[in-house]
Amino acid sequence: MEINYLCPKCKSFLNIGNKIVLSVKVKNEQKGLMLFEKELGNYQIKKHDLVEYKKGELLGFYCPICHENLALDDVNSNLAKIIMLDENNKEYDVIFSKVAGEHATFKISNNEIEAYGEDSHKYINFFGHSPKY
Ligand SMILES: [Zn+2]
Repeated sequence: MEINYLCPKCKSFLNIGNKIVLSVKVKNEQKGLMLFEKELGNYQIKKHDLVEYKKGELLGFYCPICHENLALDDVNSNLAKIIMLDENNKEYDVIFSKVAGEHATFKISNNEIEAYGEDSHKYINFFGHSPKY
């Protein structure tokens, strides 16, 4: 089975091919779809040219199907969450930074945190114990 990503609320699949599709809202209220790489730690994205933002701007991420806000405000207002199912159907929380240009992603199961991205050290204190790199 391939790795799949799901909306935490409606459990719809968010991935197509090697991409994850999320709905994004930027400061000027422009909305659009954004494509992310399924591979954790790969921060290449695809978006519409008119969806513009500056580095450091806080973006809003939403499920493209049910429009649930993916923000994880109870942990940190800079973070958002989706669900990952690995090849063995094991479930993880995948938490990522909503700050434009910031590279921080965490794959979390019951007792393990894996961190990705050079900015992930900014958030390790929010998860109770240190991630492995
Ligand atoms: Zn949803």
